[in-house]
Amino acid sequence: MTTLEIQELKDRFSTPIKVVIIPHKNPDGDAIGSCLALYHYLKQYQCESEVIAPNEFPDFLKWLPGTDQIIIYEKQLDQATQSIKSADLVFTLDFNSLSRINGVAETLEHFKGDYIMIDHHQSPDSYAKYTYSDTTMSSTCEMVYNFILMMGNGQKITQEIATCLYTGIMTDTGSFRFPSTTSATHRVIAELIDKGANNSEIHNAIYDTSSLDKLQLLGCALKNLVQLPEYNTVYITLSKQELAQYNFKKGDTEGFVNYGLSLKGIKFALIFIESQQEEIVKISLRSKGDFSVNDFARLHFNGGGHTNAAGGRSTISLEDTVKKFVSLLPDYKDQLQ
Ligand code: 5GP
Ligand code: MN
Repeated sequence: MTTLEIQELKDRFSTPIKVVIIPHKNPDGDAIGSCLALYHYLKQYQCESEVIAPNEFPDFLKWLPGTDQIIIYEKQLDQATQSIKSADLVFTLDFNSLSRINGVAETLEHFKGDYIMIDHHQSPDSYAKYTYSDTTMSSTCEMVYNFILMMGNGQKITQEIATCLYTGIMTDTGSFRFPSTTSATHRVIAELIDKGANNSEIHNAIYDTSSLDKLQLLGCALKNLVQLPEYNTVYITLSKQELAQYNFKKGDTEGFVNYGLSLKGIKFALIFIESQQEEIVKISLRSKGDFSVNDFARLHFNGGGHTNAAGGRSTISLEDTVKKFVSLLPDYKDQLQ
C-alpha cells in the first residue's frame, strides 16, 4: 500500500463511514483473529464496522473478544444483506478471490463502494481498490499489525486487539514453527505480549480444550492413516459415518493433517474429509520443502492456498477421490523423492 493510499484511508476513517469486514468461508484463527482485531481498531474511529462471516466458525475461537458481535451470513441473511448494501468500504481478510466467500459474493454484487484486501495467499485477484498482498507474511494477522502501524497507530493496539492478532499468528504458523515464521513475526509477537496478549492463556484456550469425542476422532483418523513410502506421502480419510460416530463439530479436525507430516521423511500429507452437509469431500494438503500443494490443489482439486498449506474439494465420492489422488502421484514421483 502506498503512502498516498494510507493517507486516503486515514481521511476516510475520520468521517462517519460504514465498514464491513469479511473473512473467508470456514474461517480459521487467522481469519477470525484478523477481522476482530480490525473491528476493535476501527471502533476507535468514527466509523461503524461489522464483521460478516460467510458461515459458522469453530467453537475453539468463541472466547475471542468480539466474537458475539460477528454476523453469520448463512444464518442472518437479512441483517448481513442490509449491512453490505449500506457499506462504504469492505475489507476482505485472509483470502484474495471472491469465490472463497460463497453466497456473500452474490450480495456483494449490490455493493458499490471500494474493497480493501489484506491477505498472504498466492495469486490475488484484482477486485480491490486498496491491495495489501504479501505471500511472504506468516499470517493476515501479522499484516493487520503492520497495517495499523502504517496508519501511524501503534499506540491504538489494545489488549483486545493484541489478543486477536496473537491468536491468528499462532494458529497460522503452527505455533511459530512453519517456515513462514520470520524474525519480524517474532518481533510482532513480542510487541503483542507487551500490549497485553497473554501467550500461555491463549495457547491453552486454543489447544487445550478438546472434547473426548475430538480426541477419539483423532484416534480414528490416525488408524485410517495410509503411508505411501514410494512417494514420501501419507493421507488420512474420515467418512461421514466416522464423523457422526464421534459427534463431529466444526473445528474438531483442525490440525489432524499435521500428524501425517510428523512422520519421518514425509514430504506430502493430506486429509480427505467427507462433508456431512454438502456432497463434497473437503481436502487439506500440507507439504515440507519445495513441493507446492498450492499448485497441486489448484490443478486437481479446485482449491489453492500457500506452497506448504492448501485446501481443496472434490465432488466425487470419498473412495473415488482417494483413487483419483493416488493415480496422480506417479507424475509427481521426482518432486516427492
Ligand atoms: P485448510 O487446509 O486449513 O482448510 O487450508 C489451508 C490453507 O489453504 C489456508 O491458508 C486456507 O486459507 C487455504 N485454502 C483452503 N481452501 C482453499 C481454497 O479452496 N482456495 C484457496 N485459494 N485457498 C484455500
Ligand atoms: Mn491466514
